[in-house]
Amino acid sequence: MSSSLIQSFIEEANSRSADFPLNNLPFGVFSEKSRPKKKFSCTAIGDKVFNLSLAEELGLISDLGFSKVLLNSFMEKGKKVRQSLRHQIQEILSENSSKKDIALNCIIPMEDCIHSMPFEIGEYTDFYSCKNHALNASKIIRGEDAGLSPNWYSLPVAYNGRKSSVVISGSDIKRPRGQIPDKETGLVAYKKTEKLDFELELGTVIGKPLEWSRTSDYRESEDLIFGFVLLNDWSARDIQSWEYQPLGPFLSKAFGTTISPWVISPEALEDFKLNPPKREIPLLPHFEDEKSYVFDINLSVKLIEDDGTETSLAKTNAKELYYSPVQQILHHSSSGSGMSVGDLLGSGTISGIEKRSRGCFLELSWGGAEPVELASGKKRSFIEDNDTVILSGVSQSEHYSIGFGDCVGKIIP
Ligand code: MN
Repeated sequence: MSSSLIQSFIEEANSRSADFPLNNLPFGVFSEKSRPKKKFSCTAIGDKVFNLSLAEELGLISDLGFSKVLLNSFMEKGKKVRQSLRHQIQEILSENSSKKDIALNCIIPMEDCIHSMPFEIGEYTDFYSCKNHALNASKIIRGEDAGLSPNWYSLPVAYNGRKSSVVISGSDIKRPRGQIPDKETGLVAYKKTEKLDFELELGTVIGKPLEWSRTSDYRESEDLIFGFVLLNDWSARDIQSWEYQPLGPFLSKAFGTTISPWVISPEALEDFKLNPPKREIPLLPHFEDEKSYVFDINLSVKLIEDDGTETSLAKTNAKELYYSPVQQILHHSSSGSGMSVGDLLGSGTISGIEKRSRGCFLELSWGGAEPVELASGKKRSFIEDNDTVILSGVSQSEHYSIGFGDCVGKIIP
């Protein structure tokens, strides 16, 4: 049974299709367009933002570190503090709020605001947790009969990425250069990628540190999570295929990773937990697979051409992840690597079974063999200059929605 929609005095938050009802309450860092330098921590309510830095200053909510603006100091206070703040905000913004008059001072139309990076990224790791994607990628790279390497069914494969190139939604991404061999002659040149791709992913944000050399069980790994964002792991496939052997991707995925502006809390997604897909081979006991869950989040990808023509490229769901976010953390900490506040874990590209449910161009165009037809009639195998890619996510129950907001990036020459 899913919870009911919690009614707010902000009317726009009270419909089943609203992205930001009182059931959601994501965390972000914004500024007003009229005062772009004065950033504040906030949450979203309907089509408005609620300024948490000001609410703290006015004594509306407890002192939780929002004067520092970036969310890290609040994040590390942990789950209980986050849950208690959630209840405070639900009361302050409820339809029968006794604090409505003061609360109104902290409310700003979202359209008058600019979003910025919500927290300082610790380190960035990218997984490869979706079986449909991994299997398709194997077939495209190694031929129709290729399967997954045996380790794939035993652990969530990953590589360590760069925090230096993680950017907020709306940032332009410059087409990267790299080493690319010529197919006919084999001569290698340093040039612009011709196979620029997006990757539709769910990002997990770590809110609590785990000491170096310690490992964590399922419950502790779960408690390390502060929330979730949409993540576009931009990839240059021609650079990737030359550089990745034998240690994995490097520069082909280090030139830009875009995240969405709102961090969605685990509490907001409580009603959307599902069992993970059927296991090919049972996972080792330390994965505590009997406890694992994935989330029912409808995901979509849209491409906008330079002239504004929009095409829906793909629709899929985060429930396709074979390894859950908690299991990604469990694996990450299993050798004693340690985790820090602000660490970001990408899930890996999320793809469904159907052709138009695939979360990257590599799969959608089958490596370029089957270009995708856009609404304009033009064809695309990979992203061209001035194309904009928009990832969106929303969980919907019979009573309410939990929107993620958009994760937007434009490719510039
Ligand atoms: Mn990726």
